[in-house]
Amino acid sequence: MNRFWVEEIWRMGLLAGVALVLSGLFGNFFSWLLLVSLLYLAWHIHNLAKLGRWIEKRLSGESPQSSGIWEEIFIQLHRFRQRNRRRHKRLVSRLSRFQEASQALPNAIVVLNNEGSIEWCNSATTRLLGIHTTHDLGQRILNLIRNPALVNYMLRAEFEEPLTLLSPIDDSRTLSIRVVAYGTDQRLLIARDITHMQRLEEMRRDFVANVSHEMRTPLTVISGYLELFAEADNRDSDEFDDVVVRMSEQASRLQSIIGDLLLLSRLESEKKYTASHEAVNVAQLLKMLLEEARSLSGYKNQQISLECDDELFITGNDQELRSAFSNLVFNAVNYTPAGGEISLSWCRDDEGAHFAVRDTGIGIPTQHIDRLTERFYRVDVGRSRHSGGTGLGLAIVKHVLQRHRAHLHIESQVGQGSVFRCDFPPEQIVTVTEKVS
Ligand code: ADP
Repeated sequence: MNRFWVEEIWRMGLLAGVALVLSGLFGNFFSWLLLVSLLYLAWHIHNLAKLGRWIEKRLSGESPQSSGIWEEIFIQLHRFRQRNRRRHKRLVSRLSRFQEASQALPNAIVVLNNEGSIEWCNSATTRLLGIHTTHDLGQRILNLIRNPALVNYMLRAEFEEPLTLLSPIDDSRTLSIRVVAYGTDQRLLIARDITHMQRLEEMRRDFVANVSHEMRTPLTVISGYLELFAEADNRDSDEFDDVVVRMSEQASRLQSIIGDLLLLSRLESEKKYTASHEAVNVAQLLKMLLEEARSLSGYKNQQISLECDDELFITGNDQELRSAFSNLVFNAVNYTPAGGEISLSWCRDDEGAHFAVRDTGIGIPTQHIDRLTERFYRVDVGRSRHSGGTGLGLAIVKHVLQRHRAHLHIESQVGQGSVFRCDFPPEQIVTVTEKVS
């Protein structure tokens, strides 16, 4: 029991003693007891009133003075107030440090509530998105930035991939928008200026395209002379023959690499699908590829089969699809040993149209699968070169598929074989009426 309670019990005892003494003098103990109890009650009510007034003033100013349990109550409340003040100060300083840090960030940060209205944003938001840090609070972001791509992105709410957008206030700037969901239905929108990175990327693409282009002509000349040498009658030795054959092989390899690099940079520079939207007769294309694959297979004598839906057309670019599909089919031929089986299929289901190449070839260790579509990525460099591969085939496949809103799906088991499947969404499928028109 603390000293306040001891004091309080003493007070009650004293009051009872006073009632006892007075009743000894004047008789009528219970009346005196009632009187001192009423006095004691009045004292409590007086303290309660003090507490009420203090709470009304939000515990500010001096704490009321009293004794006994009321002193304890006032002291505890005073301490509570001090603790709260210190905590509040700490919070305010943390908040202002957080705000300073977020204001210093070069990226725009916008806190959105569940209705897409702006709750808070930093100063970079004004510079990049034209949203004012105070006036625009509470406004819906889609009312302020009326960009169809952003509207679509926010409504679809699939935020795995960032959205690339021109700045609504300066179309010389490109922004990468990311949205992160947090808390209950809140979202954080982060806009990053990627203009510089994009320029560098463009420069890199142009550089590769220009170098490839510049190398093509001299290489064609060298290849032409090598052919002349190979055909000439006045060759002195078998050794010379071998050298010319090897040089011709390397020259044609270089030509393939340059061809693939040029195709890749063209695909990259036209990121959006701008090519003519023709209805591609995939079955016909695959029948041609089947013949080519059989003749490439040659002495390997592989069993190559095709199962396809002749009625299934998709919107796209015939040349690009041919190049993507042929890379997959020729890879299957190259990486499947003699006598192996390769089956091609083209079919549709509720999820869209699918082109799959299954082989019983060498397979690919799992750790390589995610990286196969990187340029020049090879599981086995020696084997790829030997088979005449450029290391760019699957990168081309990936880009072509991206331009057709399709995805490449790879499954493989070492020594068992691989499945390369291209999944086209239902929107890419051409309906019968479209085909007729
Ligand atoms: P490459 O010109 O070397 O074939 P690609 O980009 O077409 O280049 O393929 C990348 C790598 O993926 C190849 O080097 C090979 O290691 C592996 N690969 C591709 N297709 C197959 C397949 N059907 N079976 C086994 N490995 C494959």
